[in-house]
Amino acid sequence: MHLLPTHDEIMRVLRETGALRDGHFVYSNGLHSDRYLQVPLAMRYYQHAKTFSVALSRLLRANPEIRAIIPELSIVAPATAGLPVAYGVCEALQAKRVYWAERENETEPLRFRQFIEPLPGEQVVLVDDILRTGTKLGEMKTLLESYGAIVVALAVVINVPNPQVRSFGDLPIMYLTQLEASYYADAASCDLCRKSIPFQKVWL
Ligand SMILES: [Zn+2]
Repeated sequence: MHLLPTHDEIMRVLRETGALRDGHFVYSNGLHSDRYLQVPLAMRYYQHAKTFSVALSRLLRANPEIRAIIPELSIVAPATAGLPVAYGVCEALQAKRVYWAERENETEPLRFRQFIEPLPGEQVVLVDDILRTGTKLGEMKTLLESYGAIVVALAVVINVPNPQVRSFGDLPIMYLTQLEASYYADAASCDLCRKSIPFQKVWL
């Protein structure tokens, strides 16, 4: 695989590792879809994790404004699924810091571990495995900004645009490839439900 894998190469890895599944899925937000993607299944294989992280780091390095601040840059993930990406990108870029946020349970806001505090003016690349609705990345961006940190880019392995995706304005967004899926707002509008195809409930 080259340093920048092609869309087909990425799809092959995702299918071979079970990360990408076709079928009929119902998400926790009520959307129905014909595809499900769980990138950590691919990231179990260190070589794939490395391929994806190195490729993302190359996209980041290609941006002159980001390249200029790499020695001071922080790589931050909003959840554990982004951790292998964060460490891989940090290593490949030779960036300064890597850390992450988490939450005790789904009803609580994201927070950092005790004593982890972004610095005012700290420049951050926010990373995750996928961009789907962007809800968690948006929450993470707000959290970082509440400390005075500056989010300079968003980098995810796969972009899976969902009809509910939030806007990040003119923030640069890097991703290795984009994956299309059909989404339906509910069972009544779902083609797959209409065909009585059994569904699987998935949590993000
Ligand atoms: Zn359905």
